[in-house]
Amino acid sequence: MGKPTGFKEFAREAASYRDVDVRLLDYAELYTPVDEARLSTQAARCMDCGIPFCQSGDGCPVANRIPEWNDLIYDGRWREALDRLHQTNNFPEFTGRVCPAPCEGSCVLGSVDKPVTIKNIEYAIIDRGFAEGWVVPQPPAQRTGKTVAVIGSGPSGLAAAAQLNQAGHTVTVYERADRIGGLLMYGIPNMKLGKDVVQRRVDLLAAEGVNFVTNADVGGAGANAVSVEELRSASDAVVLCTGATNGRDLPIDNRQLNGIHLAMEFLRANTKSLLDSNLDDGNYISAKGKNVIVIGGGDTGTDCIGTSIRHGAKNVVNFELMPQPPEDRANDNPWPTWPRIFRVDYGHAESAHTFGKDPREYCLLSKGFIDDGNGNVKGIKTVDVEWKSEGGRMSMTEVPGSERLWEADLVLLSMGFLGPEQYVNAALGVETDERSNYRAAYDKFATNLPGVFAAGDCRRGQSLVVWAIDEGRRAAREVDAYLMA
Ligand SMILES: Cc1cc2nc3c(=O)[nH]c(=O)nc-3n(C[C@H](O)[C@H](O)[C@H](O)COP(=O)(O)OP(=O)(O)OC[C@H]3O[C@@H](n4cnc5c(N)ncnc54)[C@H](O)[C@@H]3O)c2cc1C
Ligand code: SF4
Repeated sequence: MGKPTGFKEFAREAASYRDVDVRLLDYAELYTPVDEARLSTQAARCMDCGIPFCQSGDGCPVANRIPEWNDLIYDGRWREALDRLHQTNNFPEFTGRVCPAPCEGSCVLGSVDKPVTIKNIEYAIIDRGFAEGWVVPQPPAQRTGKTVAVIGSGPSGLAAAAQLNQAGHTVTVYERADRIGGLLMYGIPNMKLGKDVVQRRVDLLAAEGVNFVTNADVGGAGANAVSVEELRSASDAVVLCTGATNGRDLPIDNRQLNGIHLAMEFLRANTKSLLDSNLDDGNYISAKGKNVIVIGGGDTGTDCIGTSIRHGAKNVVNFELMPQPPEDRANDNPWPTWPRIFRVDYGHAESAHTFGKDPREYCLLSKGFIDDGNGNVKGIKTVDVEWKSEGGRMSMTEVPGSERLWEADLVLLSMGFLGPEQYVNAALGVETDERSNYRAAYDKFATNLPGVFAAGDCRRGQSLVVWAIDEGRRAAREVDAYLMA
C-alpha cells in the first residue's frame, strides 16, 4: 500500500478527454497526455484491500494485479508495474483505452467514495512502457513442432495466438478482412482506439513469430475462401475466434428504403476509408448535412454518434427503448456489481456540445420508416412505451395516442448482435447452443470436434474486449494441454 492515508487525503481525479471543440476536428484519440504526478496521488488512493474486489469476482475478468501496480506506481517503479501488468493482460494498451472498467465498479473504495482511477493507471503504465522502449518482441526459446490455426484476429484470436506462440507452437491467424484486429481495427473507431496502436501490437506479435494471413475467409464461398478441411488437416489444433458479427436488424415497415444501415456497415466503411485514403476515396456512408437517427445505444450507438458528428451531421438523435438509468445505483444494483447508472460517454458529450442537448430519447419504440417517394428514408414513426416490473421481469406496453414522427435522412441500427455468422461452424460441423453461439464450455473451450476450440464473442456472445482477451488466454491453455497431452 503506497500511502495508508491516501484514500482520505486525495479525491478522485480521472484524466479528461481532449476539448470537444478540438477533438471534433479530427479522428485522433480522445485522450490527453499522462500527468505522472496526478497518477501517483491517484494510485495512493488504493487501500491494498485484503480482498481486492477490483481484480476478482465482478471486477477484472483477466484478474489484473491492480493493488500491486497501484503500489508500484506510487513508488515510481514503472518498469516493474509494466511487468506485473503483462503477467495477466497481453494487450493493456487496448483495455487501458476502451475497457468500461468493471474493476472500478467493484473497487472497495467505491462503496464509500469514488473508486480508484484504475483504468487511467493501466493506460499510463503501458504507454510509458512503449515510450521507454520496454515493450520488445520476445520470441519463444524453443518450438514444439505443433501447428495451430486461429480463425479470426480480434482480441480473443490475438490473445490465443500470443499465448500459444509463447508456448512454442507455430501459430497462423487467418482473417477475412484486409487488416488484422477484428473489431479493434474495424469496429471501435479511431477516436477511442488509434489504429497505429492496434498495428503496433500486431507487428510485435509478428516479430515474435505469429503468422498472419489476411483476406482469408475460412469456410467462405468467394474468391478469398480457405477450405476448412485443408486447414484442419494441416493444423494440430484449430481455435475459432470469429466474433459475434451477426447484427440485429429491425424488420419494420419500409426497412428496405435507402439510407437505413446496420451500424457496422457505417463504422467499418468509415474506418477503412480513413485508413486507405483519409476519407478521400469517398467509400463510406456520409452523415454530412443529414438528420441522423441512431436506434439503440451502447458502445456501438455512441460510436455512430461520434462519427456522424465528425462527418458534419445536421442533427443526431439516439432512440433508446429502455428508460433513462438512475444517477446512482438502484437498490437492486448494489456494490460490487457493475453499476447500471446514467453515463455521459464521449459521443453524448459531443452531441450536447454541437446541438445543445443530449441526443438520447428514452422509451421509444420504432414502428415504421417513412418513404420520401423516391425510395429514400425521410423519417421514422414511433410510439412511447412504459415499463413495469412484474415478478422481477420487465414488461413493456405502448402508450395510446403517443405516436410521433421524426425526420431522418440516415438511420443507423445499433441494437446489438445475434451471435456469430453460421458458415464456418456449418462447414466444420461445430455444434451451436440455444443462442446460436458455438457450443464450448467456459474454461474448457473445446467444441464437439476433437482439436477444435472456440473463444471470445463467437462462444459467449457479444461482450467486451477484456472478456475476449480472457477467453483467448484461457483457450490457449486448454489447446496447449491438448497438444502436449
Ligand atoms: C462498434 C463497437 C464498439 C465497441 N466498443 C467497445 C468498447 O469500447 N469496449 C469494449 O470492451 N468492447 C467494445 N466492443 C466489443 C468488442 O469489440 C468485442 O467484444 C470484441 O472485439 C470481441 O472480440 P473477438 O475476438 O471475440 O471478436 P471480433 O473482434 O469480432 O473479431 C472476430 C474476427 O473474426 C473474423 N472472422 C469471422 N469469420 C471469419 C472467417 N470465416 N474467416 C476468417 N476470419 C473471420 C472477423 O472478420 C473479425 O475480424 C465494441 C463492439 C463494437 C461493434
Ligand atoms: S478494490 Fe480498489 S482500493 Fe481495494 S485494492 Fe482494488 S483498487 Fe485498491
